[in-house]
Amino acid sequence: MDPIFSTGVSIALNNARFASADILQAVEIGEFGKAGFQRFEQTLRWETSNRYKFISVYYRLNVLFTAFVRNLVSMGGAQVAARGCLR
Ligand SMILES: Cc1cc2nc3c(=O)[nH]c(=O)nc-3n(C[C@H](O)[C@H](O)[C@H](O)COP(=O)(O)OP(=O)(O)OC[C@H]3O[C@@H](n4cnc5c(N)ncnc54)[C@H](O)[C@@H]3O)c2cc1C
Repeated sequence: MDPIFSTGVSIALNNARFASADILQAVEIGEFGKAGFQRFEQTLRWETSNRYKFISVYYRLNVLFTAFVRNLVSMGGAQVAARGCLR
């Protein structure tokens, strides 16, 4: 449950954004086979894998992870790190 930040809904909407690119291309060329959706599948696998690693690190190294994030914030690096993740 995450009614405040709505992580589940955010992920669903963001994945819909990724899917829309392949859907639009499929409509444009009139080809709706599996091959046309490989970019979407790869993006989702990559995203899920990164998310899983991030969560695993958090639960395995909870104390260190918190110290790391605090250190980043105190160095003003959180924005830099966030920008890197958004690329
Ligand atoms: C109990 C519970 C609490 C949650 N709480 C939160 C929360 O607090 N915050 C948060 O961010 N997320 C929460 N989530 C997760 C969030 O609901 C999901 O991440 C989000 O709804 C996923 O959206 P979606 O569009 O991918 O799938 P869904 O919302 O499941 O939509 C899929 C739709 O497709 C329809 N469908 C399925 N198969 C077919 C078919 N063959 N033909 C036609 N239609 C079909 C279904 O009926 C459904 O309406 C919660 C989930 C649950 C179960």
